[in-house]
Amino acid sequence: MKKRNFYAGPSILNEGVIKNTAEAVLNFAGTGLSLMEVSHRGKEFSAVMAEARSLFKELLDIPEDFEVLFLGGGASLQFYQSALNFLKTKAAYLDTGSWAHKAIKEAKLVGEVEVVGSSEADGYKYIPEYKAPTGVDYFYYTSNNTIYGTEIRKDPEVSVPLISDMSSDIFTREIDWSKYNLVFGGAQKNLAPAGVTFVVVRKSALGNTGRILPTMLDYNTHIKKDSMFNTPPVLPVYTALQTMKWYKELGGVKAIEKRNQAKADELYGAIDSSKIFQGYAQPEARSLMNVTFVMKDEYKEKEAEFLDFATKAGCIGIKGYRTLGGFRASIYNGMDLEGVKQLTQAMKDFENKL
Ligand SMILES: *Cc1c(COP(=O)(O)O)cnc(C)c1O
Repeated sequence: MKKRNFYAGPSILNEGVIKNTAEAVLNFAGTGLSLMEVSHRGKEFSAVMAEARSLFKELLDIPEDFEVLFLGGGASLQFYQSALNFLKTKAAYLDTGSWAHKAIKEAKLVGEVEVVGSSEADGYKYIPEYKAPTGVDYFYYTSNNTIYGTEIRKDPEVSVPLISDMSSDIFTREIDWSKYNLVFGGAQKNLAPAGVTFVVVRKSALGNTGRILPTMLDYNTHIKKDSMFNTPPVLPVYTALQTMKWYKELGGVKAIEKRNQAKADELYGAIDSSKIFQGYAQPEARSLMNVTFVMKDEYKEKEAEFLDFATKAGCIGIKGYRTLGGFRASIYNGMDLEGVKQLTQAMKDFENKL
């Protein structure tokens, strides 16, 4: 039986992508050396970095004024770095979950923060209503709330520039770049193994805070050096490129979006038609990436048993986030419909044997 990876992150990668990376680990680009031991300044790896940056732009139709960077530090460092580079006096934030909460905490170290909406009191089950902010440097939102399974799939309608943490739903929809100054994310959800952070930044919007920045935290440092100011995470960048080549083969983000909708329909359909399961996130806020669900009260004590049953049926990593309980099936781009069906079959089989 095939094992299916439903972990939230690090998470599933396409099998062909893993194979290509494994081959390069043994013999990179015909050099006879491992990808892990070659110089990042050599012509072979320089070509990988250049292609990864340009394919990223191509797949998401990113305009000229933006640069794509592959950095270290994770999305968590971007919480601070984004504010450092863009927060002059005041910024607006939408509190939709733990990651947004953490971003707010870091931004407060830099300047004034206005939280325009929060669904914290309701366990972050939905995207809160908010009044479009004005007179702020930017509006920050988390496009997909990996822990709670809610998602904002439409670029917010506001009159100030947007900044977004798209760690867990990058490459799942088209983005209207005219609204953005910055999009970033950890690559370990939809792109690569852990260790690299993608940053898409509008060049002309930089340098307006009047702040003197530490070298490594200044986006301009990395822009000037084509994302090779210091040693980049070579292996994850290589894998990111393989994943993007596969995205292109699939037909790009439009095709991926269709594929993801079919997967989500299959899983949410199974939850909604079940006697024993129910969704966690409110239906109108449901994420296409992280599907959160629990057992109805009268079956609650069966959760551990189902977890074990699903694992034996090859569905790995569906345990809910530690503070939330229940289940979370992450069905990122790397997951195919067959994988999702393996899980919905396990859910039906479990219910039938009760
Ligand atoms: C995983 C995740 C993060 C944290 O990423 P790191 O690279 O571990 O710092 C931040 N935001 C979102 C939305 C995530 O899913």
